[in-house]
Amino acid sequence: MAAARRMVVVGGDAAGMTAASQVRRLRGAEELEIVAFERGDFSSYSACGIPYWIGGSVDARDDLIARTPQQHREHGIDLRMRTEVTEIDVDGQRVRTRDPSASGDGEAWTGFDELVIATGARPLRPPLPGIDADGVHGVQSLEDGQALLDALHTREKAAAGRKLRAVVVGAGYIGVEMAEALTLRGFDVTVVDQAAQPMTTLDPDMGELVRDAMCGMGMEVVTGAKVTAVETEESGSDRSAGRARAVVTQDATYPADVVVLGLGVAPETSLAREAGLPLGESGGLLTDLAMRVRGHENIWAGGDCVEVLDLVSGRTRHIALGTHANKHGQVIGANIGGAYSTFPGVVGTAVSKVCDLEIARTGLLEAQASQVGLQFVTVTAEATSRAGYFPGSESMRVKMLAECGTGRLLGTQIVGRAGAGKRVDIAAVALSAGMTVGQMTFLDLGYAPPFSPVWDPVLVAARKAKAAVEAEAAGK
Ligand SMILES: Cc1cc2nc3c(=O)[nH]c(=O)nc-3n(C[C@H](O)[C@H](O)[C@H](O)COP(=O)(O)OP(=O)(O)OC[C@H]3O[C@@H](n4cnc5c(N)ncnc54)[C@H](O)[C@@H]3O)c2cc1C
Repeated sequence: MAAARRMVVVGGDAAGMTAASQVRRLRGAEELEIVAFERGDFSSYSACGIPYWIGGSVDARDDLIARTPQQHREHGIDLRMRTEVTEIDVDGQRVRTRDPSASGDGEAWTGFDELVIATGARPLRPPLPGIDADGVHGVQSLEDGQALLDALHTREKAAAGRKLRAVVVGAGYIGVEMAEALTLRGFDVTVVDQAAQPMTTLDPDMGELVRDAMCGMGMEVVTGAKVTAVETEESGSDRSAGRARAVVTQDATYPADVVVLGLGVAPETSLAREAGLPLGESGGLLTDLAMRVRGHENIWAGGDCVEVLDLVSGRTRHIALGTHANKHGQVIGANIGGAYSTFPGVVGTAVSKVCDLEIARTGLLEAQASQVGLQFVTVTAEATSRAGYFPGSESMRVKMLAECGTGRLLGTQIVGRAGAGKRVDIAAVALSAGMTVGQMTFLDLGYAPPFSPVWDPVLVAARKAKAAVEAEAAGK
Protein backbone atom coordinates (compact mmCIF):
# COMPACT_ATOMS: atom_id res chain seq x y z
CA MET A 1 0.00 0.00 0.00
CA ALA A 2 1.36 3.41 -0.95
CA ALA A 3 2.31 5.74 1.92
CA ALA A 4 -0.19 8.51 2.55
CA ARG A 5 2.42 11.28 2.40
CA ARG A 6 5.96 11.80 1.10
CA MET A 7 8.87 13.80 2.50
CA VAL A 8 11.62 14.74 0.06
CA VAL A 9 15.09 15.71 1.27
CA VAL A 10 17.61 17.55 -0.92
CA GLY A 11 21.15 16.90 0.36
CA GLY A 12 22.31 13.72 2.11
CA ASP A 13 24.63 14.97 4.82
CA ALA A 14 24.32 16.42 8.32
CA ALA A 15 21.15 18.50 8.18
CA GLY A 16 19.24 16.45 5.61
CA MET A 17 19.90 12.98 6.97
CA THR A 18 19.49 14.04 10.60
CA ALA A 19 16.05 15.37 9.65
CA ALA A 20 15.21 12.17 7.77
CA SER A 21 16.42 9.90 10.58
CA GLN A 22 14.53 11.87 13.22
CA VAL A 23 11.30 11.70 11.22
CA ARG A 24 11.75 7.96 10.77
CA ARG A 25 12.12 7.57 14.56
CA LEU A 26 8.78 9.30 14.98
CA ARG A 27 6.83 8.06 11.97
CA GLY A 28 6.72 4.68 10.27
CA ALA A 29 7.01 4.17 6.51
CA GLU A 30 3.29 3.46 6.28
CA GLU A 31 2.59 7.01 7.45
CA LEU A 32 5.36 8.90 5.67
CA GLU A 33 7.60 7.84 2.82
CA ILE A 34 11.06 9.49 2.92
CA VAL A 35 12.99 10.01 -0.30
CA ALA A 36 16.39 11.73 -0.06
CA PHE A 37 18.54 12.88 -2.99
CA GLU A 38 22.31 13.28 -2.73
CA ARG A 39 24.36 14.29 -5.75
CA GLY A 40 27.67 13.06 -4.33
CA ASP A 41 29.08 9.64 -3.49
CA PHE A 42 28.76 9.80 0.32
CA SER A 43 26.04 10.31 2.91
CA SER A 44 26.24 11.44 6.55
CA TYR A 45 29.95 12.10 6.60
CA SER A 46 32.07 14.40 8.73
CA ALA A 47 33.72 17.07 6.59
CA CYS A 48 35.01 18.38 9.94
CA GLY A 49 37.31 15.35 10.09
CA ILE A 50 38.90 15.88 6.66
CA PRO A 51 41.95 17.86 7.93
CA TYR A 52 42.65 15.12 10.50
CA TRP A 53 42.31 12.37 7.90
CA ILE A 54 44.68 14.24 5.57
CA GLY A 55 47.08 14.88 8.47
CA GLY A 56 47.05 11.20 9.47
CA SER A 57 45.35 11.38 12.88
CA VAL A 58 42.32 9.60 11.41
CA ASP A 59 43.25 6.39 9.60
CA ALA A 60 40.71 5.98 6.87
CA ARG A 61 38.13 7.92 4.90
CA ASP A 62 35.37 5.55 5.98
CA ASP A 63 36.03 6.40 9.64
CA LEU A 64 34.44 9.76 8.80
CA ILE A 65 31.19 8.22 7.59
CA ALA A 66 28.56 8.09 10.32
CA ARG A 67 25.96 6.23 8.26
CA THR A 68 26.28 4.77 4.77
CA PRO A 69 23.52 4.95 2.15
CA GLN A 70 22.80 1.25 2.75
CA GLN A 71 22.41 1.84 6.50
CA HIS A 72 19.96 4.69 5.80
CA ARG A 73 17.97 2.41 3.48
CA GLU A 74 17.86 -0.25 6.19
CA HIS A 75 16.29 2.41 8.42
CA GLY A 76 13.50 3.03 5.94
CA ILE A 77 14.93 6.04 4.09
CA ASP A 78 14.96 5.79 0.31
CA LEU A 79 18.31 7.54 -0.23
CA ARG A 80 19.18 7.98 -3.90
CA MET A 81 22.87 8.69 -4.41
CA ARG A 82 24.51 10.52 -7.33
CA THR A 83 21.14 12.09 -8.04
CA GLU A 84 21.01 15.85 -8.28
CA VAL A 85 17.91 17.91 -7.69
CA THR A 86 17.88 20.41 -10.55
CA GLU A 87 14.63 22.28 -9.88
CA ILE A 88 12.12 22.88 -7.12
CA ASP A 89 8.58 23.45 -8.36
CA VAL A 90 7.01 25.12 -5.34
CA ASP A 91 3.50 25.46 -6.76
CA GLY A 92 3.49 21.95 -8.22
CA GLN A 93 4.93 20.50 -4.96
CA ARG A 94 7.58 18.47 -6.77
CA VAL A 95 11.32 18.38 -7.50
CA ARG A 96 13.07 17.56 -10.73
CA THR A 97 16.08 15.23 -10.48
CA ARG A 98 18.88 14.09 -12.75
CA ASP A 99 20.42 10.67 -12.30
CA PRO A 100 23.15 10.17 -14.93
CA SER A 101 23.06 6.40 -14.44
CA ALA A 102 19.32 6.14 -15.22
CA SER A 103 17.98 5.30 -18.65
CA GLY A 104 17.01 8.04 -21.10
CA ASP A 105 17.97 11.56 -20.09
CA GLY A 106 17.93 10.49 -16.41
CA GLU A 107 15.44 13.22 -15.53
CA ALA A 108 12.38 12.60 -13.35
CA TRP A 109 9.91 14.48 -11.18
CA THR A 110 9.14 13.46 -7.59
CA GLY A 111 6.21 14.96 -5.72
CA PHE A 112 6.40 16.01 -2.07
CA ASP A 113 4.11 16.76 0.82
CA GLU A 114 7.05 18.01 2.91
CA LEU A 115 10.32 19.28 1.42
CA VAL A 116 13.61 19.64 3.32
CA ILE A 117 16.32 21.74 1.69
CA ALA A 118 19.73 20.80 3.11
CA THR A 119 22.03 21.67 0.24
CA GLY A 120 24.91 22.93 2.41
CA ALA A 121 27.47 25.48 1.29
CA ARG A 122 29.75 25.84 -1.70
CA PRO A 123 33.42 26.75 -1.30
CA LEU A 124 34.47 30.14 -2.64
CA ARG A 125 36.73 29.82 -5.67
CA PRO A 126 37.55 33.18 -7.25
CA PRO A 127 37.93 33.14 -11.04
CA LEU A 128 41.72 33.55 -11.04
CA PRO A 129 44.03 32.32 -13.80
CA GLY A 130 45.15 28.77 -13.00
CA ILE A 131 42.69 28.24 -10.15
CA ASP A 132 41.25 25.10 -11.79
CA ALA A 133 44.64 23.63 -12.65
CA ASP A 134 45.66 20.15 -11.62
CA GLY A 135 47.20 20.36 -8.14
CA VAL A 136 44.76 22.96 -6.77
CA HIS A 137 42.48 21.35 -4.20
CA GLY A 138 39.44 22.21 -2.15
CA VAL A 139 38.50 20.27 0.99
CA GLN A 140 34.73 20.66 1.10
CA SER A 141 33.73 17.05 0.59
CA LEU A 142 35.10 13.54 1.03
CA GLU A 143 35.59 13.42 -2.76
CA ASP A 144 37.77 16.55 -2.45
CA GLY A 145 39.65 15.02 0.46
CA GLN A 146 40.29 11.82 -1.47
CA ALA A 147 41.55 13.75 -4.52
CA LEU A 148 43.92 15.74 -2.32
CA LEU A 149 45.18 12.66 -0.52
CA ASP A 150 45.80 10.85 -3.83
CA ALA A 151 47.73 13.88 -5.11
CA LEU A 152 49.79 14.07 -1.92
CA HIS A 153 50.69 10.37 -2.20
CA THR A 154 51.79 10.88 -5.82
CA ARG A 155 53.92 13.92 -4.96
CA GLU A 156 55.39 12.21 -1.89
CA LYS A 157 56.42 9.16 -3.94
CA ALA A 158 58.00 11.30 -6.63
CA ALA A 159 59.78 13.64 -4.22
CA ALA A 160 62.86 11.40 -3.85
CA GLY A 161 63.90 13.03 -0.60
CA ARG A 162 63.17 16.59 -1.76
CA LYS A 163 61.21 18.63 0.80
CA LEU A 164 57.76 19.30 -0.67
CA ARG A 165 56.03 22.65 -0.50
CA ALA A 166 52.36 23.38 0.04
CA VAL A 167 50.62 26.72 -0.23
CA VAL A 168 47.33 27.12 1.60
CA VAL A 169 45.26 30.02 0.30
CA GLY A 170 43.09 31.39 3.09
CA ALA A 171 43.91 31.52 6.79
CA GLY A 172 40.47 30.90 8.23
CA TYR A 173 39.89 27.86 10.42
CA ILE A 174 39.88 25.40 7.53
CA GLY A 175 43.06 26.96 6.14
CA VAL A 176 44.91 26.72 9.45
CA GLU A 177 43.68 23.16 10.06
CA MET A 178 44.96 22.21 6.60
CA ALA A 179 48.25 23.98 7.33
CA GLU A 180 48.60 21.70 10.35
CA ALA A 181 47.70 18.61 8.30
CA LEU A 182 50.30 19.38 5.63
CA THR A 183 52.94 20.23 8.25
CA LEU A 184 52.30 16.86 9.89
CA ARG A 185 52.86 15.22 6.50
CA GLY A 186 56.27 16.89 6.33
CA PHE A 187 55.51 19.68 3.86
CA ASP A 188 56.98 23.16 4.06
CA VAL A 189 53.80 25.17 4.41
CA THR A 190 53.04 28.73 3.37
CA VAL A 191 49.66 30.23 4.24
CA VAL A 192 48.58 33.26 2.22
CA ASP A 193 45.66 35.51 3.11
CA GLN A 194 44.57 38.96 2.02
CA ALA A 195 43.52 39.91 5.57
CA ALA A 196 46.00 41.54 7.92
CA GLN A 197 45.94 38.57 10.32
CA PRO A 198 45.09 34.91 10.15
CA MET A 199 41.73 33.88 11.64
CA THR A 200 39.48 36.84 10.93
CA THR A 201 36.94 35.10 13.17
CA LEU A 202 39.06 36.68 15.93
CA ASP A 203 39.94 40.30 16.65
CA PRO A 204 43.25 41.28 15.00
CA ASP A 205 45.21 41.27 18.28
CA MET A 206 44.13 37.68 18.94
CA GLY A 207 44.77 36.73 15.31
CA GLU A 208 48.31 38.05 15.81
CA LEU A 209 48.85 35.40 18.48
CA VAL A 210 47.85 32.75 15.97
CA ARG A 211 50.31 34.13 13.43
CA ASP A 212 53.15 34.14 15.99
CA ALA A 213 52.39 30.57 16.97
CA MET A 214 52.17 29.37 13.36
CA CYS A 215 55.49 31.01 12.53
CA GLY A 216 56.95 29.35 15.63
CA MET A 217 55.79 26.02 14.19
CA GLY A 218 57.86 26.69 11.08
CA MET A 219 55.01 27.79 8.82
CA GLU A 220 55.31 30.86 6.65
CA VAL A 221 52.33 33.16 7.14
CA VAL A 222 51.87 35.81 4.46
CA THR A 223 49.08 38.29 5.20
CA GLY A 224 47.81 41.40 3.43
CA ALA A 225 48.55 39.51 0.21
CA LYS A 226 45.89 39.10 -2.46
CA VAL A 227 46.36 36.06 -4.65
CA THR A 228 46.23 37.04 -8.32
CA ALA A 229 46.93 33.72 -10.05
CA VAL A 230 48.08 30.15 -9.74
CA GLU A 231 51.11 29.64 -11.96
CA THR A 232 51.21 26.33 -13.83
CA GLU A 233 53.93 24.28 -15.49
CA GLU A 234 52.79 25.35 -18.93
CA SER A 235 54.71 28.38 -20.08
CA GLY A 236 53.00 30.92 -22.30
CA SER A 237 49.71 32.69 -21.93
CA ASP A 238 47.44 29.72 -21.09
CA ARG A 239 48.04 29.60 -17.37
CA SER A 240 45.20 27.19 -16.73
CA ALA A 241 46.99 24.35 -18.50
CA GLY A 242 49.39 21.98 -16.73
CA ARG A 243 49.95 21.38 -13.07
CA ALA A 244 50.05 24.14 -10.48
CA ARG A 245 53.59 25.10 -9.49
CA ALA A 246 53.22 28.38 -7.59
CA VAL A 247 50.79 30.82 -6.05
CA VAL A 248 51.21 34.39 -7.24
CA THR A 249 50.30 37.48 -5.22
CA GLN A 250 50.71 41.12 -6.22
CA ASP A 251 54.14 41.13 -4.54
CA ALA A 252 55.61 37.65 -4.72
CA THR A 253 55.46 34.11 -6.06
CA TYR A 254 55.29 31.14 -3.68
CA PRO A 255 56.40 27.80 -5.18
CA ALA A 256 54.02 24.95 -4.50
CA ASP A 257 53.88 21.21 -5.12
CA VAL A 258 50.29 21.38 -3.99
CA VAL A 259 47.84 24.23 -3.45
CA VAL A 260 44.94 23.97 -1.00
CA LEU A 261 42.06 26.45 -1.02
CA GLY A 262 40.38 27.48 2.21
CA LEU A 263 38.66 30.68 1.17
CA GLY A 264 35.41 30.25 3.00
CA VAL A 265 31.99 29.22 1.79
CA ALA A 266 28.69 30.68 0.65
CA PRO A 267 25.27 29.11 1.12
CA GLU A 268 24.38 26.70 -1.71
CA THR A 269 21.00 28.19 -2.50
CA SER A 270 20.88 28.41 -6.29
CA LEU A 271 17.88 26.03 -6.43
CA ALA A 272 16.08 27.96 -3.71
CA ARG A 273 16.79 31.27 -5.44
CA GLU A 274 15.42 29.99 -8.75
CA ALA A 275 12.34 28.70 -6.93
CA GLY A 276 11.72 32.17 -5.50
CA LEU A 277 12.26 31.17 -1.86
CA PRO A 278 13.27 33.96 0.56
CA LEU A 279 17.01 34.59 0.99
CA GLY A 280 18.82 36.87 3.43
CA GLU A 281 21.66 39.35 2.94
CA SER A 282 24.33 36.67 2.70
CA GLY A 283 22.29 34.50 0.35
CA GLY A 284 21.16 31.96 2.94
CA LEU A 285 17.57 30.75 3.16
CA LEU A 286 15.43 32.53 5.74
CA THR A 287 13.44 30.34 8.10
CA ASP A 288 11.28 30.76 11.15
CA LEU A 289 12.31 29.29 14.52
CA ALA A 290 10.82 25.90 13.59
CA MET A 291 13.18 25.89 10.55
CA ARG A 292 10.27 26.31 8.14
CA VAL A 293 11.16 28.45 5.13
CA ARG A 294 9.44 31.77 5.70
CA GLY A 295 6.04 31.90 4.06
CA HIS A 296 5.99 28.20 3.10
CA GLU A 297 4.04 25.84 5.33
CA ASN A 298 5.60 22.58 4.11
CA ILE A 299 9.13 23.61 3.02
CA TRP A 300 11.91 23.39 5.60
CA ALA A 301 15.62 24.23 5.45
CA GLY A 302 18.63 23.75 7.68
CA GLY A 303 22.40 23.56 7.88
CA ASP A 304 24.90 25.54 5.85
CA CYS A 305 22.25 26.74 3.35
CA VAL A 306 20.36 28.89 5.90
CA GLU A 307 20.98 32.06 7.84
CA VAL A 308 20.70 31.80 11.61
CA LEU A 309 19.63 34.28 14.23
CA ASP A 310 22.61 35.65 16.14
CA LEU A 311 21.22 36.01 19.66
CA VAL A 312 23.85 38.56 20.69
CA SER A 313 23.52 41.02 17.80
CA GLY A 314 19.87 40.25 17.01
CA ARG A 315 20.71 39.88 13.30
CA THR A 316 20.62 36.91 10.99
CA ARG A 317 24.01 35.64 9.81
CA HIS A 318 25.43 32.82 7.73
CA ILE A 319 27.57 30.58 9.94
CA ALA A 320 28.50 27.29 8.28
CA LEU A 321 29.07 24.81 11.10
CA GLY A 322 28.22 21.17 11.53
CA THR A 323 27.13 21.75 15.10
CA HIS A 324 24.22 23.90 13.83
CA ALA A 325 23.42 21.63 10.86
CA ASN A 326 22.81 18.63 13.11
CA LYS A 327 20.58 20.62 15.44
CA HIS A 328 18.60 22.08 12.54
CA GLY A 329 18.04 18.59 11.19
CA GLN A 330 16.83 17.45 14.60
CA VAL A 331 14.36 20.35 14.82
CA ILE A 332 13.05 19.84 11.28
CA GLY A 333 12.66 16.11 11.84
CA ALA A 334 10.77 16.62 15.10
CA ASN A 335 8.37 19.09 13.48
CA ILE A 336 7.69 17.02 10.37
CA GLY A 337 7.39 13.95 12.57
CA GLY A 338 4.55 15.57 14.48
CA ALA A 339 6.39 16.68 17.62
CA TYR A 340 7.34 20.30 18.27
CA SER A 341 10.77 21.88 18.36
CA THR A 342 12.45 25.20 17.64
CA PHE A 343 16.02 26.33 17.05
CA PRO A 344 16.58 29.35 19.26
CA GLY A 345 19.57 30.82 17.42
CA VAL A 346 23.30 30.88 18.02
CA VAL A 347 25.83 32.88 19.98
CA GLY A 348 28.64 32.35 17.45
CA THR A 349 30.77 29.74 19.18
CA ALA A 350 33.60 28.04 17.31
CA VAL A 351 36.75 26.19 18.28
CA SER A 352 39.65 24.97 16.16
CA LYS A 353 43.36 24.33 16.43
CA VAL A 354 46.62 24.53 14.59
CA CYS A 355 49.07 21.94 15.94
CA ASP A 356 49.11 22.51 19.72
CA LEU A 357 47.53 25.97 19.56
CA GLU A 358 43.85 26.09 20.46
CA ILE A 359 41.69 28.90 19.09
CA ALA A 360 38.17 29.68 20.26
CA ARG A 361 35.57 32.40 20.12
CA THR A 362 31.98 33.03 21.07
CA GLY A 363 29.76 36.08 20.76
CA LEU A 364 30.79 39.26 19.01
CA LEU A 365 34.16 40.57 17.91
CA GLU A 366 34.91 44.26 18.52
CA ALA A 367 34.05 45.20 14.93
CA GLN A 368 30.78 43.24 15.04
CA ALA A 369 29.71 44.86 18.31
CA SER A 370 30.47 48.34 16.93
CA GLN A 371 28.60 47.56 13.71
CA VAL A 372 25.35 46.94 15.58
CA GLY A 373 25.80 50.06 17.72
CA LEU A 374 26.83 48.47 21.00
CA GLN A 375 29.13 50.33 23.38
CA PHE A 376 31.51 48.05 25.19
CA VAL A 377 34.69 47.63 27.18
CA THR A 378 37.38 45.14 26.28
CA VAL A 379 39.82 43.35 28.57
CA THR A 380 42.42 40.67 28.09
CA ALA A 381 43.70 38.29 30.74
CA GLU A 382 46.78 36.10 30.66
CA ALA A 383 46.22 32.93 32.65
CA THR A 384 47.19 29.29 32.90
CA SER A 385 45.30 26.11 32.10
CA ARG A 386 46.18 24.45 35.44
CA ALA A 387 47.44 25.63 38.80
CA GLY A 388 50.70 27.43 38.00
CA TYR A 389 52.72 24.94 40.06
CA PHE A 390 51.14 21.90 38.43
CA PRO A 391 53.13 20.09 35.72
CA GLY A 392 51.87 20.73 32.21
CA SER A 393 50.32 24.08 33.03
CA GLU A 394 49.98 26.04 29.76
CA SER A 395 49.42 29.73 29.17
CA MET A 396 46.47 31.27 27.37
CA ARG A 397 45.03 34.68 26.61
CA VAL A 398 41.35 35.35 27.19
CA LYS A 399 39.77 38.43 25.66
CA MET A 400 36.35 39.54 26.82
CA LEU A 401 33.87 42.18 25.66
CA ALA A 402 31.17 43.50 27.98
CA GLU A 403 28.45 46.06 27.34
CA CYS A 404 28.87 49.47 28.94
CA GLY A 405 26.30 50.21 31.60
CA THR A 406 24.64 46.79 31.80
CA GLY A 407 27.83 44.74 32.05
CA ARG A 408 26.27 42.10 29.77
CA LEU A 409 28.83 39.70 28.31
CA LEU A 410 29.10 40.31 24.55
CA GLY A 411 31.92 38.04 23.48
CA THR A 412 34.97 36.00 24.45
CA GLN A 413 38.01 34.85 22.49
CA ILE A 414 40.65 32.44 23.75
CA VAL A 415 44.02 31.53 22.23
CA GLY A 416 46.35 29.19 24.07
CA ARG A 417 47.77 25.72 24.41
CA ALA A 418 46.25 22.53 25.79
CA GLY A 419 43.13 23.15 27.83
CA ALA A 420 42.42 26.61 26.38
CA GLY A 421 39.91 26.07 23.57
CA LYS A 422 36.94 24.35 25.16
CA ARG A 423 36.92 26.86 28.03
CA VAL A 424 35.03 29.06 25.59
CA ASP A 425 31.97 26.93 26.37
CA ILE A 426 31.72 28.60 29.77
CA ALA A 427 31.34 31.94 28.02
CA ALA A 428 28.97 30.43 25.43
CA VAL A 429 26.63 29.30 28.21
CA ALA A 430 26.90 32.68 29.93
CA LEU A 431 26.06 34.42 26.65
CA SER A 432 23.09 32.13 26.04
CA ALA A 433 21.83 32.90 29.53
CA GLY A 434 22.32 36.65 29.00
CA MET A 435 24.63 36.89 32.00
CA THR A 436 26.61 39.95 33.01
CA VAL A 437 30.34 39.67 33.54
CA GLY A 438 29.65 40.43 37.21
CA GLN A 439 27.39 37.38 37.48
CA MET A 440 30.04 35.29 35.77
CA THR A 441 32.69 36.09 38.38
CA PHE A 442 31.13 33.74 40.94
CA LEU A 443 30.18 30.90 38.59
CA ASP A 444 30.63 27.63 40.48
CA LEU A 445 33.11 25.98 38.12
CA GLY A 446 35.01 22.83 39.01
CA TYR A 447 38.49 23.33 40.42
CA ALA A 448 41.43 21.08 41.21
CA PRO A 449 45.07 21.87 40.36
CA PRO A 450 45.32 19.47 37.38
CA PHE A 451 42.28 21.10 35.75
CA SER A 452 42.55 24.83 36.38
CA PRO A 453 43.93 27.52 38.64
CA VAL A 454 41.66 28.32 41.58
CA TRP A 455 40.30 31.22 39.49
CA ASP A 456 39.55 29.76 36.10
CA PRO A 457 40.99 31.86 33.21
CA VAL A 458 37.46 32.76 32.06
CA LEU A 459 36.60 34.00 35.56
CA VAL A 460 39.82 36.01 35.69
CA ALA A 461 38.75 37.75 32.47
CA ALA A 462 35.21 38.24 33.82
CA ARG A 463 36.59 39.92 36.96
CA LYS A 464 38.68 42.26 34.84
CA ALA A 465 35.72 42.99 32.58
CA LYS A 466 33.48 43.75 35.59
CA ALA A 467 36.08 46.20 36.89
CA ALA A 468 36.35 47.80 33.45
CA VAL A 469 32.58 48.24 33.19
CA GLU A 470 32.52 49.87 36.65
CA ALA A 471 35.47 52.12 35.83
CA GLU A 472 33.81 53.19 32.58
CA ALA A 473 30.57 53.99 34.42
CA ALA A 474 32.53 56.03 36.96
CA GLY A 475 34.14 57.92 34.08
CA LYS A 476 37.63 56.71 34.88
C1 LIG B 1 37.33 20.89 6.07
C2 LIG B 1 36.14 21.21 6.91
C3 LIG B 1 36.24 21.22 8.29
C4 LIG B 1 35.14 21.53 9.07
N1 LIG B 1 35.28 21.53 10.44
C5 LIG B 1 34.19 21.82 11.21
C6 LIG B 1 34.30 21.79 12.62
O1 LIG B 1 35.37 21.50 13.18
N2 LIG B 1 33.19 22.09 13.36
C7 LIG B 1 31.98 22.38 12.77
O2 LIG B 1 31.00 22.63 13.48
N3 LIG B 1 31.86 22.41 11.42
C8 LIG B 1 32.93 22.13 10.63
N4 LIG B 1 32.80 22.12 9.26
C9 LIG B 1 31.51 22.50 8.66
C10 LIG B 1 30.56 21.32 8.57
O3 LIG B 1 31.16 20.26 7.88
C11 LIG B 1 29.30 21.77 7.84
O4 LIG B 1 28.75 22.84 8.56
C12 LIG B 1 28.27 20.68 7.73
O5 LIG B 1 28.74 19.62 6.95
C13 LIG B 1 27.00 21.24 7.10
O6 LIG B 1 26.08 20.22 6.91
P1 LIG B 1 24.94 20.40 5.82
O7 LIG B 1 24.15 19.14 5.85
O8 LIG B 1 24.24 21.68 6.02
O9 LIG B 1 25.72 20.58 4.44
P2 LIG B 1 26.75 19.63 3.70
O10 LIG B 1 27.53 18.82 4.64
O11 LIG B 1 27.49 20.52 2.76
O12 LIG B 1 25.80 18.67 2.87
C14 LIG B 1 25.02 19.14 1.83
C15 LIG B 1 24.87 18.00 0.85
O13 LIG B 1 23.93 18.39 -0.13
C16 LIG B 1 24.34 17.86 -1.37
N5 LIG B 1 23.67 18.67 -2.41
C17 LIG B 1 23.80 20.00 -2.62
N6 LIG B 1 23.00 20.38 -3.63
C18 LIG B 1 22.35 19.28 -4.05
C19 LIG B 1 21.40 19.05 -5.07
N7 LIG B 1 20.95 20.03 -5.84
N8 LIG B 1 20.95 17.79 -5.25
C20 LIG B 1 21.39 16.77 -4.47
N9 LIG B 1 22.30 16.93 -3.48
C21 LIG B 1 22.77 18.18 -3.28
C22 LIG B 1 25.85 18.00 -1.35
O14 LIG B 1 26.47 17.11 -2.25
C23 LIG B 1 26.16 17.68 0.11
O15 LIG B 1 26.51 16.33 0.31
C24 LIG B 1 33.89 21.82 8.45
C25 LIG B 1 33.78 21.80 7.05
C26 LIG B 1 34.89 21.49 6.29
C27 LIG B 1 34.75 21.48 4.79
